[in-house]
Amino acid sequence: MSKLLTACGAVLGAAGSLFGAMRCARQPLLYKKGATPPAHFPEFRFCPLCRGKLRRYEICGRTRLACSRRRCNFVHWDGPKPAAVALVTIDGKLLLVERGVPPAVGFWCLPGGFVEAHESAEDAAFREVLEEAGLRVKITRLIGAYAPCHDVNEIILVYEGVVISGSVAPGDDAAKAQLFGPDELPDNIAFDQHRKVIDAWKHHVTLAPHDLDCV
Ligand SMILES: [Zn+2]
Repeated sequence: MSKLLTACGAVLGAAGSLFGAMRCARQPLLYKKGATPPAHFPEFRFCPLCRGKLRRYEICGRTRLACSRRRCNFVHWDGPKPAAVALVTIDGKLLLVERGVPPAVGFWCLPGGFVEAHESAEDAAFREVLEEAGLRVKITRLIGAYAPCHDVNEIILVYEGVVISGSVAPGDDAAKAQLFGPDELPDNIAFDQHRKVIDAWKHHVTLAPHDLDCV
């Protein structure tokens, strides 16, 4: 019981997901280049604060990994990470990028990525479009915030971006950046949520808050 009470108020900051490392081209890869990444990462085994063993405990209504040492309050709060993506169009065509790093190498998606520490989601959307597609955009509105899907423990924040300057050119973890008309969209779209956002754009459908939730 005391474990539960102390754990509920314990460290929040170290709850990052390894999925972040997967997406960044500058990180050392956790698997061979070109290989299919595992659906699930192995669990953390040791406490990042005291190096004690992590074990599963019932904490705040869920089973969570927490430090097994009595004097350590570390809990792995494995909440979803926020990712910001941008819906950018030029002359009625949608901007997509082809992924150059795992997961889903060779598949197309909206430009976007994880929100960095102390960065707003809007700034993250702006930055990702610039890094991956060479365009400066004005973030004009939040289209929606959508829940984690399947194995991807992320909340996706979809913003509308209007181009200010630049020309379409791939960069960062994007192998290609290209504009597609509604009838030219590629079949191989990465990530369920991106696919649904792109499909809604194609059919002029306004997404409601729960339209992208997984069932
Ligand atoms: Zn510990």
